[in-house]
Amino acid sequence: MIIAANLKTNFTRKETNSYIAELDTYVKNNAISQEVLVFPAMSSLDENNTSIVVGAQNAYPTKDGAFTGEIGTTHLDEFGIKTILIGHSERRHILGETQEALVEKFNYYKELGFKIVYCVGEPLEKREAGEAEMMEYISTQYEGIDTNYENLIIAYEPVWAIGTGLTPTLEDIASIHKELKKKSPAPLLYGGSVKVTNAKEVLAIENVDGILVGSAALYAEHFCSMIGFAEELC
Ligand code: PEP
Repeated sequence: MIIAANLKTNFTRKETNSYIAELDTYVKNNAISQEVLVFPAMSSLDENNTSIVVGAQNAYPTKDGAFTGEIGTTHLDEFGIKTILIGHSERRHILGETQEALVEKFNYYKELGFKIVYCVGEPLEKREAGEAEMMEYISTQYEGIDTNYENLIIAYEPVWAIGTGLTPTLEDIASIHKELKKKSPAPLLYGGSVKVTNAKEVLAIENVDGILVGSAALYAEHFCSMIGFAEELC
């Protein structure tokens, strides 16, 4: 299974390093064989000599150049980073990244062989519009994406569940994951208000290959427990 933490705009570099070190100790002490990914804030990237896979929450499709506020592969290479999160709903909806821009980014990092965690998920109004419209909306987020890319991981994250404490029912997650599995052979994570109290049941759902955790992952102890649940289930 794949257990991923999106630290968003939290933790300084020092805090991130001690967080990653804590996870690394847990993974080693408990002989964890699951894949653990952490996406720190951009300025908290560092050289982490660790069993944890550290990825970038974002980077521009460039080596370097005139893209104010962005980083490119020069900056990722400095820390040996070969994993990137693309299409997170906060980047789609708050930062206004279009599907076209995401496809460009996806193709650029795919060419470089990056592990890509690509996020899809519907806003509340699409969920409320019924299953057909919801699935149609999610399908548009697959447009232009090579769903057979060997280093692809997909994360299904309903926008209305991110950071809200709301989650779909276990049955809903199961039925959406079943549908999404038809679109790509890539591992499929669930994300959206996963916490230590519901992680075990979410991880146990068929076609859930792991979880992407935001707020609750900020508590290293909780996140370690979730890693432990995944290990138990495998
Ligand atoms: C996320 O940001 O990817 C996420 C799933 O956040 P949260 O767990 O806080 O809902």
